[in-house]
Amino acid sequence: MAATVIDGKAFAAKVRGQVAEHVTRLKGDHGITPGLAVVLVGEDPASQVYVRNKGKQTVEVGMASFEHKLDASVSQGELLELIGKLNADPAVHGILCQLPVPDHIDSDTILGAIDPAKDVDGFHISNVGLLGTGQKAMVPCTPLGCLMMLRDHHGSLSGMDAVVIGRSNIVGKPMAQLLLGDSCTVTIAHSRTKDLAGTVRRADIVVAAVGRPEMVPGDWIKPGATVIDVGINRIERDGKNKLVGDCDYASCAEVAGAITPVPGGVGPMTIACLLANTVTACCRANGLPEPEGLTA
Ligand code: NAD
Repeated sequence: MAATVIDGKAFAAKVRGQVAEHVTRLKGDHGITPGLAVVLVGEDPASQVYVRNKGKQTVEVGMASFEHKLDASVSQGELLELIGKLNADPAVHGILCQLPVPDHIDSDTILGAIDPAKDVDGFHISNVGLLGTGQKAMVPCTPLGCLMMLRDHHGSLSGMDAVVIGRSNIVGKPMAQLLLGDSCTVTIAHSRTKDLAGTVRRADIVVAAVGRPEMVPGDWIKPGATVIDVGINRIERDGKNKLVGDCDYASCAEVAGAITPVPGGVGPMTIACLLANTVTACCRANGLPEPEGLTA
């Protein structure tokens, strides 16, 4: 049986369309333009590409984009001062500081300085706590994108066995909380898990967020399971530079019921969810109803 391919590129375009519709309503009915501020410190080439894409897509859905590019030598105090200004600026509804920041800056201090209501990355400890206790939080974009795709494919996730491979703060742990919130029975596997293959074989839903190219083979997948591959790994194959996920796509797709490809699966959903979070933050800040289907 060949798996259904979950097309993240098309799904992300649909989410951006929903965001754009909501932005039009906010502007037309309330005179409010949602605004996203992105702070980039230094010249890391990958971060520059991410920030450029975020800015472009923010403008495309009709929101205001505020980019702050700071020299790598900026002091932590200067960066905190900028974040304080953005926290106080009513035109800014979402703030994101692109990671990694240079070594002389403590990323936890920076993330902790962002107003939790504007924390569209969902990394502030308050949002982590709110998510963990099942309350209204700003949810990290990548796991939110995975959840949206799973809900779209399955409808209800209630009672399903889910295994999340990876326990990072930005993907694995919030992903597990979201699946628990949707009443899955959740196992978090990691580098010290004793029987990873056996653990994954029990899962109706597998979310792989490890950062190891093609480490999950098809014979770990329960027939018919849904495989969400978060991994983005650059490898050399046949003399070519290639992007692959954490799952071996060819063998997993033979066994799974549905699977996300890499590229074109989870990746495009991350920025779409950042835009969704910004609209959500804007609605909450203004006491307006939140967009349906764009939050956890
Ligand atoms: P991380 O390095 O912070 O965490 C990796 C996790 O994998 C750790 O918790 C570790 O315990 C676990 N792990 C490592 N080796 C393992 C093994 N052999 N068996 C089982 N578990 C193991 O990584 P991250 O930030 O969570 O990212 C994971 C992957 O997802 C990376 O490839 C990253 O590029 C990708 N990613 C993609 C997006 C996106 O937008 N699609 C966003 C964030 C991360």
